[in-house]
Amino acid sequence: MKRQSILLRRIVILIFIFIITLSVILVHRHIMVQNIEEQLLNSMDDVSYQNKVVIEKELEEMQTILASVGKEVESLYPNLETKEELEAVVDFLRPFAEIYHFKRMGVVALDGEAFCTDGYYESISGHDVLVLGSKGISNITGAIEDTIGVKEQINVLSIPIYDRKNQVMAVLFATVRTEEFRNLINVEPFEGLGYSYIIQKDGTVVTDSEQSPLYGTTNIFDSMLSFSDKNAEMVDTLKAAMESSATGHGFAEAEGKRYIHYAPLNIENVQQGWYLFTIVTSQILEDRIDEVLDLYDKLLVVAGLIVIFAIAYYIYTCGSDEKTLRTLAYVDSVTEGDNYACFIEKYEELKPDKGYFISMDLNDFKLVNTICGIKKGDETLRKVWQAIEEQLGEGELAARMNADHYVLLLNESSRTEFTERIQQLSTKIGGIAGNIGVISIWPYFGIYELQKAEDAETCFGYANQAKHLVRGKRKQNYAFYERSDYDKLVAEKKLVDQFEGAIANGEFEMWYQPKYKSDDQTVVGAEALVRWRKEDGTMRQPLDFIPLFERNGLIATLDEHVFKTVCMQQKKWEKEGKHSFPISVNISRASLYYDDIIDRYKNILKECDIEPGLVPLEITESATVDNSQIRKLVERFQEIGFPIHLDDFGNGYSALSTLNMMHFDTLKLDKGLVDFIGDSNGEKLLGYTIKLAKSLGMRITAEGVEYKNQVEFLQDLECDEIQGYYFSRPLPLEKFEELIK
Ligand code: C2E
Ligand code: MG
Ligand code: MG
Repeated sequence: MKRQSILLRRIVILIFIFIITLSVILVHRHIMVQNIEEQLLNSMDDVSYQNKVVIEKELEEMQTILASVGKEVESLYPNLETKEELEAVVDFLRPFAEIYHFKRMGVVALDGEAFCTDGYYESISGHDVLVLGSKGISNITGAIEDTIGVKEQINVLSIPIYDRKNQVMAVLFATVRTEEFRNLINVEPFEGLGYSYIIQKDGTVVTDSEQSPLYGTTNIFDSMLSFSDKNAEMVDTLKAAMESSATGHGFAEAEGKRYIHYAPLNIENVQQGWYLFTIVTSQILEDRIDEVLDLYDKLLVVAGLIVIFAIAYYIYTCGSDEKTLRTLAYVDSVTEGDNYACFIEKYEELKPDKGYFISMDLNDFKLVNTICGIKKGDETLRKVWQAIEEQLGEGELAARMNADHYVLLLNESSRTEFTERIQQLSTKIGGIAGNIGVISIWPYFGIYELQKAEDAETCFGYANQAKHLVRGKRKQNYAFYERSDYDKLVAEKKLVDQFEGAIANGEFEMWYQPKYKSDDQTVVGAEALVRWRKEDGTMRQPLDFIPLFERNGLIATLDEHVFKTVCMQQKKWEKEGKHSFPISVNISRASLYYDDIIDRYKNILKECDIEPGLVPLEITESATVDNSQIRKLVERFQEIGFPIHLDDFGNGYSALSTLNMMHFDTLKLDKGLVDFIGDSNGEKLLGYTIKLAKSLGMRITAEGVEYKNQVEFLQDLECDEIQGYYFSRPLPLEKFEELIK
């Protein structure tokens, strides 16, 4: 699921990159199109400029010719009054007309009679040529219909000629076929897709190039408007531009888009003002753009292909890369099975709401590494993994976490079947050591039974807590997490944390349970029993904390503290001149593990300056501690002078054989034995025990004596001392002092 979404995310990123590339190409393509358009407009500028120069030059030349001919006429014919004189001028003009390719030249008398080089006489009174000329104005007409000879479009250049008094005496003219102008602008720019017009400011066409579709059209603006209404705005723009003699670009719709370049023609004597229009159809642009677009489209296809290839390649390599990464991230390097990260991922996919979450460790695995070597250690871990994996069913998970810690999720409907599986797995794992030749190991399990869907970390925490309860236990090597166990653990942890403070604050109080001589029933001693008065005033009994402190070693400190307190109390009583008798103190077996205990207790005796006989030591028997070690300690204590009492004799652990093994000064019969009184067999056992102990030179103290018949029975058996509720419960110091006063 996660993998798919990662892959999808990466593909989306690739597609995103593709879109960006695409956009860049498209934007670039758009810019290129604009550039091409700009280039086209620039080249229109160039073409137009060249045409303009040619036209202007040509007309200037024609006017210069006419002007110089005029000057000649003025000097040769200073009085042009008669028909003969006018005809003589015509004769004079004829060779010029021919040389300079005018259609004709001629002279117009002020009465309107025109004399032409091609033999025509015509009255043109009222014509611009005469009207303007007689006023002394030179002129070039627009295209007009030739009324003489061949009917065609012509343009007429005219200049006034003056007599000696500087009065206009006639008008000289030269007629040019409009066709001649057309030749000037008949160049074919833009691969035949461009053409030009010379127009007057009002739009009247003076001439056009042959390719022009408006060939022969008289007004370009009318024509533009007839193509499309959309051109109206452009017509206004053009007119305004021409009014201010501006040069520029425009567009028009005429069977497709047309680019217009307009530039004024600076020709002297043109009354109307001429403009050169260079026009190009959008076809030329499209052709050019198409080439570029073609290139871009190819580029897009290539980019697309590259991206598709990249995605395909990426998916392919992602697959194999992921495989490698997955192996690194999810496979345990030792067992080659799942690791914890993999377990968690699978667990989250499964989201189980029932089943057993197990935290498993191997006991003594560290020894395998130390004694048999890391290689064997790894082999052991692998075999353990195989044993676990082999028995996994559908929907069940397992992983090695680290070191010798494994985690499992098993499904089993009943606890009985589940525990059977755990036992089978234990047997299998227990057998590994023999198979591969390493020292014995066995697993132990902490189990959390799921009641609802919970996250793996929480379950693991519970299972781990349960595991602590069975650490090192071979027989009962599994424990289920119970809330109460957890509460107990928390409470115990609290007590441990408070211990040091409690010692310093004197929270441990000594209570004294008197011991009575059995025959005359007088107090002959007492046993110091510790109580913990907490800061809040509540009192804790020894069973609430002694077993805990025995497990974690704090008992040694507590025992020593009790011993010292009793010693100091004895000294105090001695100083106060009070009756002194032995007050026994308990020493836990766990305290005996500390080698320096003898010296420490000896030092305390010295410090308090009291006799060891005043503080007998009560030691219990226990199945777990080696008796030979205890014997040595007991002997050394006895050497110092401590009387040693064997506590709780007969509570289950103790064996009569112990009595042979070491010597105790006093045997304390456990309440369990005393309770046999009334039962004939029990009474017999009690009788033998007392006899045996006495024969070995021990004194006898009976504990937990509650009833009169018990007292009497013990008196009969010559038990030395009696301790029990029948006489007194343990008493706080003041009460005890009152008792012994
Ligand atoms: P214990 O040394 O065998 O002490 C005798 C226990 O039996 C005391 O319980 C006492 O109150 C109880 N007892 C005495 N007479 C009777 C009776 O007639 N009926 C009943 N039902 N009980 C009676 P306590 O004070 O709760 O102490 C329990 C155990 O805690 C002690 O057993 C001893 O093993 C241990 N303990 C107490 N103080 C210390 C100590 O300072 N150090 C060590 N290591 N253990 C201690
Ligand atoms: Mg005791
Ligand atoms: Mg006892």
